Amino acid sequence: MTDKTYGFETLSIHAGAAPDATTGARALPIYQTTAYAFDNADHAAALFNLQTVGFIYSRLTNPTNAALETRLATLEGGRGCTVTSSGHAAQVLALFSLMSSGAQIVASSRLYGGSLQQMRNTYPKFGWKAEIVDADQPENFKRAANENTRAFFIESLANPGGVVSDLEAIARIAESVGVPLLVDNTLATPYLCKPIDYGATLIVHSTTKFLSGTGTSMGGAVVDSGKFDWTRGGKFPSLAGPEPAYHGLNFFETFGDMAYTFHSHAVGLRDLGPSQAPFNSWITMLGMETLGLRMERHCANALAVARFLETHSAVAWVNYAGLPSNKYFALAQKYLPKGAGSVFTFGVKGGYDVGVKVVDNVDLFSHLANIGDAKSLIIHPASTTHRQLTDEQRVAAGAGPDVLRLSIGIETVDDIIRDLAQALEKATV
Ligand SMILES: *Cc1c(COP(=O)(O)O)cnc(C)c1O
Repeated sequence: MTDKTYGFETLSIHAGAAPDATTGARALPIYQTTAYAFDNADHAAALFNLQTVGFIYSRLTNPTNAALETRLATLEGGRGCTVTSSGHAAQVLALFSLMSSGAQIVASSRLYGGSLQQMRNTYPKFGWKAEIVDADQPENFKRAANENTRAFFIESLANPGGVVSDLEAIARIAESVGVPLLVDNTLATPYLCKPIDYGATLIVHSTTKFLSGTGTSMGGAVVDSGKFDWTRGGKFPSLAGPEPAYHGLNFFETFGDMAYTFHSHAVGLRDLGPSQAPFNSWITMLGMETLGLRMERHCANALAVARFLETHSAVAWVNYAGLPSNKYFALAQKYLPKGAGSVFTFGVKGGYDVGVKVVDNVDLFSHLANIGDAKSLIIHPASTTHRQLTDEQRVAAGAGPDVLRLSIGIETVDDIIRDLAQALEKATV
């Protein structure tokens, strides 16, 4: 089921999920097992030497996880995939094969707040440096790159500001510098945007969000395009040099366009350990069967809500890339022609106090820190996720006192709008 002639919706249902070879079970089995019996001692030795592909231990590989890996690689147009315990684990794993102590990445300042925290506070403990730049000017990536740079990191559609990156321009600079472009495609999903088509090398996902789609299961994924030459500049010894953990095996020479994915499993997951729970992969597979349908409705509902808010007297501004008034509208038309996603921010007149009253008066919306659920969600970042920052830092992060973030669900759109209307009404009397 990797036939490129099938459409997105067909692949969302069938890729990676043929009937079970031994039982004929039509639904994907949950392989709730830690380990796998070897045929004999030679088979075991070949598996441990990476001379044959198979299952050893579920920290490295698992058949339910492998099904999700096939589906994600197929939908993204990639070569291989590694699923992980969370989106943040996927980001660490994605960089692990590229980085060493003293290496640097150049990342967009508009990334998801949690990603920026990870880069600023935790990566330095590994000896990794993150140079944070304004991605609205792609040239900033060139300026910030140096001989230690090992990757560029952006989001296709950034949470929560509705910021759309100029993928093609940034990919061109990555190519000229000789480093892979990593794209967090969580908010867009491959239904709205396929960054590999525009030159991205690696895709990371928090499958926690739209891919599973129901706010039930943590998970992440790294998809490799299989297109990067890991011998470039001698910068990637983990992939194109001798690997001490496997008797000097050179992953790129041995596995070619699967080198990165094999390294992520055989060294990354093995030594760092953030493997996906098979049950969570199973839930995500189930969710992905309806990905196209859900994203279509998420986007249609979000556009209707954004239009409603734009004309509301209590609303100061709306930041949705699907509105023609938005700064990123042209980029969204190019990279996200099917819709600008369903996560966006708006500002209320009256600032902090009104913002807090809105979240206290919604009824259908849930007030919580997640996105990408079938249910509509709302949060007031200044009083929650961005509470620890100074006023100045909050404004810089797009989380000023008046900001509310929405993740529009797939309920009846009139009900979503009516709920926001009544909450705004109560908050401003
Ligand atoms: C949620 C999120 C993450 C982190 O994923 P977890 O599954 O929560 O670890 C990373 N990037 C984006 C864009 C996200 O929305």
